[in-house]
Amino acid sequence: MSQMTGRCLCEAVTFTAEEVQTHHHACHCGMCRRWMGTAMMGVACKSVRFAGEDHIRIYESSDWAQRGFCDLCGTSLFYLFKATGQHFMSRGVFDDQTPFRLVGEIYVDHQPPDYAFAGDLSRMTEAEFLAQFEKSE
Ligand SMILES: [Zn+2]
Ligand SMILES: [Zn+2]
Repeated sequence: MSQMTGRCLCEAVTFTAEEVQTHHHACHCGMCRRWMGTAMMGVACKSVRFAGEDHIRIYESSDWAQRGFCDLCGTSLFYLFKATGQHFMSRGVFDDQTPFRLVGEIYVDHQPPDYAFAGDLSRMTEAEFLAQFEKSE
């Protein structure tokens, strides 16, 4: 999808994202779970233009990534991969949810046992997910 808009809960932060990859994964890792309250559905975007950027706070969640949230309402806005500067916007902050399609899950070995997403999804453990990057390097 070429261009999509979104906002945080209190609307202090709004954004326009370009070249949104509407087919996305859910991450069950412990960091995403704590940060989102449940699995994170991060949507890769080529670029993101924000308004109300003063209200975005950055948390350095690891050596390789930052997480951005609204300092007024606490909405989890994005995961930013530092090496490429690419934003993975939280799916839930987009205004239009209809273009999205959940196609897979990662870190399934960290998933709590009592809930599961429906559908025919690809499923990767932490080790399987990380092995992808070792191969491509
Ligand atoms: Zn807000
Ligand atoms: Zn995660």
